Amino acid sequence: MLLEEKRELVVRYGRMIQEEKLTTGTGGNLSVLEPSSGLMAISPSGIGYEKIVPKDVVIMSLDGVFPEEDHREPSSEWQLHSALYRHRPDVGAIVHCHSDYATAVSCLGIDLPPVNYMIAVAGDKVPLTPFAVYGTSDLAQSVVNSIGDSDAALMANHGQIALGKTIKAAFTVALNVEYVARLFILAKGAGDPVLLSRADILETRKRFKSYGQIRKDRGEGDHDASVG
Ligand SMILES: [Zn+2]
Repeated sequence: MLLEEKRELVVRYGRMIQEEKLTTGTGGNLSVLEPSSGLMAISPSGIGYEKIVPKDVVIMSLDGVFPEEDHREPSSEWQLHSALYRHRPDVGAIVHCHSDYATAVSCLGIDLPPVNYMIAVAGDKVPLTPFAVYGTSDLAQSVVNSIGDSDAALMANHGQIALGKTIKAAFTVALNVEYVARLFILAKGAGDPVLLSRADILETRKRFKSYGQIRKDRGEGDHDASVG
């Protein structure tokens, strides 16, 4: 089987997306890139994460060519994954999900507000990307145009997307985006949250780096805010 290890990662992290309640039903999708061949392993369309087995994972080029004759339909968002791998050569895996709080913030039409320092796991900011219909090249373009060098973005009235060198890193980013979004919604319900400055976030990022990739490489469902 082509890209067997990468298929297994897609299966395992797909289940974790479900276990961590980052999506409902078959919503969301994930992929892992093999840079040497330019092929990605991406979740199939319309199969529940709990049912996906390695052979269901679709192997395809970023141009939409399938090296295997017998394959499932790829996720309807394969163009989104493909466009991001092209735009960001530093990225090796992508998690897109419809987690409740990140999606709720995306419906407010704002970037993810920096209410907690864990937002720094995703970059200097988590921008909002304008709405486009799911599964279209317009949506892919919208995200590419807006994400900059962040490792995450909110997709307006839809969900979130998280990037990483590894699937573990991308998954950790997705968990932390959801965590910060949840804090924002909770704080907003109780008053006017105080936002961190850009300088605070940049300083936090520096500290994360000197801490030795603690967050980016942990994942495994651990998204507590106990770094500092
Ligand atoms: Zn989606």
